Amino acid sequence: MSSDISIHIIGGGIAGLTTAIALRKYGFPVVLFEQSGQFADVGAGVTIGPNASRVLIALGLEEKLAPYARTPRHAGVLHFRTGENISYALRGDNYSAEFGSPFWHIHRADLLKVLVDALSDDAAVELRLNHEVNHVAQSGDKVVSEFSGGVSASCDVLIACDGIKSVIRETLFSNEPPAFTGYVAWRGLVDIDSLPGFEIDPDFALYAGPGKMFARYGVRNQSLINYVAIAMKKDWQAEGWSVRSKVSEVAAEFAGWCEDVQKIIAATPVDHCFKWALHVREPLSGWVKGRVALSGDAAHPMTPFLGLGAGIGIEDGLVLARAFSLSDDWRTALARYEKARIEHAAFAQRESARQGLHLLGKKPAPDAGGDKRLYNEDTLGLYAYDATSVEI
Ligand SMILES: Cc1cc2nc3c(=O)[nH]c(=O)nc-3n(C[C@H](O)[C@H](O)[C@H](O)COP(=O)(O)OP(=O)(O)OC[C@H]3O[C@@H](n4cnc5c(N)ncnc54)[C@H](O)[C@@H]3O)c2cc1C
Repeated sequence: MSSDISIHIIGGGIAGLTTAIALRKYGFPVVLFEQSGQFADVGAGVTIGPNASRVLIALGLEEKLAPYARTPRHAGVLHFRTGENISYALRGDNYSAEFGSPFWHIHRADLLKVLVDALSDDAAVELRLNHEVNHVAQSGDKVVSEFSGGVSASCDVLIACDGIKSVIRETLFSNEPPAFTGYVAWRGLVDIDSLPGFEIDPDFALYAGPGKMFARYGVRNQSLINYVAIAMKKDWQAEGWSVRSKVSEVAAEFAGWCEDVQKIIAATPVDHCFKWALHVREPLSGWVKGRVALSGDAAHPMTPFLGLGAGIGIEDGLVLARAFSLSDDWRTALARYEKARIEHAAFAQRESARQGLHLLGKKPAPDAGGDKRLYNEDTLGLYAYDATSVEI
């Protein structure tokens, strides 16, 4: 397809930025609009599985990510009350050997910085901050986005990467609101120096107890411990989805859990304790309406139990760009993108929900066979997915 097509991306999160980099790899100019005044994500870590690192490496980012990304040497499931190892698996290079690409832990701000830097000096990229889209309409051969403040912009094709609360999804695809999953998550980053004598071993630790889980790993050369603590809750009464939380609230929730969990929670800086109501949306039957396509959480928001939401959005970006490079026109490109991705993402959404029940629910998932090692992102084939070569 001719590279004089104009493609706009709405949303500068992990999915939108990766999509922009992938489109540039195939020679398409992009304009990306982000509502915030800066590119920023929540202050937390993110796991990047081999399925996603494969894409970031294919996009030429391995060297830039190297100072920030760390491959965990081992991963363990630990008893929530005693802290004893229930299972302990060597990771390290095993993922590269098995899936052809590494597993990484990284701070979200570092990942975002590398993605933004990859676009910054490119004359064929426009990054427009402070642009909040509030309406999108298609007429004739254009898509017109209207932004707060009365500005508008038109393009040939628009990729909506505006996250789970996507205005574009609600305007063009489905106005069904995101549903509260019944899980509340607390996230924290704790300075390792505030935990004298604490060893990050195993590198990734998951403690799963009845109705709750706590996962932690190190980021920034193990100088910070990132944790996600999740509990089942009947309702969510706070205003908004992400609110400041008291450290004492998390501590009370995990009272009686093993010493390491309690120590980490207690060391959370008071002004850095937030909680999220985890919401999802049902898989859609289509991601393309005319000249508009959904991507990332706007297309497939999922619970975090497989640690894959961002990774699936990263895959979207490369598959979309490949579809454009292989097709003669935008309509075919969008159709090929949707066909290649929609079932795969819906599978990840469903499996992630099932993993939540498996880890926190009273009943294990039906096929779990009582052995948690048999049911995870490796065994589901999600790490083996290869966005660089998947048939389009
Ligand atoms: C507790 C928790 C832990 C997680 N852990 C992991 C993990 O370890 N690994 C993993 O792969 N995934 C994880 N995820 C999922 C992951 O965070 C998301 O899937 C991912 O961040 C989604 O990226 P995105 O770019 O699609 O959306 P977002 O990150 O939501 O980005 C959307 C962007 O669009 C912008 N935007 C929104 N609306 C507008 C608008 N109207 N106009 C202009 N711009 C707009 C926003 O400001 C934002 O920058 C986790 C999620 C949670 C809740």
